[in-house]
Amino acid sequence: MALLVLGGLVYFVGFHDFEETPQELALQKSETIVLAHEIVLQSVDAARQPISVVEIAEENSKTGDVTSKPELKRWEEGKSMDFKGVIARNESVSAALQKHGLSNHAIHLAVSSVGKLFDFRQSKPGNEWSASVDIAGNISRFRYKTSPEDIWEARRKSDGTYVSEKVKVPLEIKREVIGGKVTTSLWQSMEKSGLTAPIVGSFIDIFASEIDFNAKTRPGDEFAVVFETIHLDGEMLRTGRVLAARYKTPTESYGAYFYETEDDEQGYYDGQGKSLQRLFLKNPLSNVRITSTYGKRFHPVLKRWKLHAGVDYGAPTGTPVMSVADGTVTFAGWKGANGKLVVVKHKNGYSTHYAHLSHIPRTIKPGVKVTKKTLIGKVGSTGRSTGPHLHFGMKKGGKFVDPLKVDIMRAPSLRGKEMKRFEELVLTPTNMEFDRATSASPSVHHNRVDVKGAQVYVENGEELY
Ligand SMILES: [Zn+2]
Repeated sequence: MALLVLGGLVYFVGFHDFEETPQELALQKSETIVLAHEIVLQSVDAARQPISVVEIAEENSKTGDVTSKPELKRWEEGKSMDFKGVIARNESVSAALQKHGLSNHAIHLAVSSVGKLFDFRQSKPGNEWSASVDIAGNISRFRYKTSPEDIWEARRKSDGTYVSEKVKVPLEIKREVIGGKVTTSLWQSMEKSGLTAPIVGSFIDIFASEIDFNAKTRPGDEFAVVFETIHLDGEMLRTGRVLAARYKTPTESYGAYFYETEDDEQGYYDGQGKSLQRLFLKNPLSNVRITSTYGKRFHPVLKRWKLHAGVDYGAPTGTPVMSVADGTVTFAGWKGANGKLVVVKHKNGYSTHYAHLSHIPRTIKPGVKVTKKTLIGKVGSTGRSTGPHLHFGMKKGGKFVDPLKVDIMRAPSLRGKEMKRFEELVLTPTNMEFDRATSASPSVHHNRVDVKGAQVYVENGEELY
């Protein structure tokens, strides 16, 4: 016997069962029963719908054991039934479905169909599933959900085969502006103003080629960010992309604006239309220690003066080496004094050379396209080398240049018509947005703009209209 609370009234769900308890008999004698009848029917229906406290309570009341787990609903032959559940620790999706008495064959068909789109090795405890089973025990519809945005569905067609798709979730994207002042560190100040770690990370990345925040940040500096928030059914799931960023010191002001050109090239540009996107990474390693720069030097092995046509990075054997830009591999293998060498050809006549590697992945071979940050090898000491290091060289038009002096590696600036379009579509409206957000009141740094353009000013968590 379970209690169901609905609309503030208390009824006994077991009312329609034929085993009458003293409580039921008492209720039946009461005059309120007739009035309550309709509501009780609805309540019973409601109680049957989701996995609920009601089922568990009923189960417990039968056994009289409050601690025992409820018995799982099992498929019964000749009945169409719906099931759902949550993946437990160390439980596979198949095992979760098996517990409900479904056949391995039926499970396999539905699960392997979704498996073409979703790799079930990535499934985690807490993932949710649901299955509709027909009278013959076939799974007519199977859903697997790893997050509110990520739901896959398999459906059984009339010929018995399955078709799967990722369910389109009606996400709503809003723009939000948050600004503030640096008090402690930049990162801390930004998080304190309500910005998420991914947004703070993007903000710092976007300005990486412009501002050295370690050296430049001072208390009182101002920051502001326009970013996306992703919503589903009125609830915010996460933050999205940074659409614009601003950083002001007492003497300088930096801006970055996300823009998609008419040729569908996306990137961040400053207020003058200069691209902030570096085409080349500054260094091919993440932990940088330069041991020898470009230029003439007394060669440690050859014992004579020679042009050092590149930069040496001291690093332990095995340190990952990344391609500094998008390009195509033109050489990968042993080449004399270079030892194991990889050469990548890039846009605008540039090529980069990575020498003395201990290892080159099998996938890195001539003709293969790589992107910025692709792992192309590991630091070693092969060839003419005195110890583990990466020799990094760069050529322009076939001639070696100093990689540390090449700093024009940006995507092209916006010009002419494109610049005008950028100003109209992005720059002017976004600057107005920034100004409104930071000038609404000296202490108001939050400004929400929903998709329809209505503005909500937020101060100390309270909305000011
Ligand atoms: Zn070198």
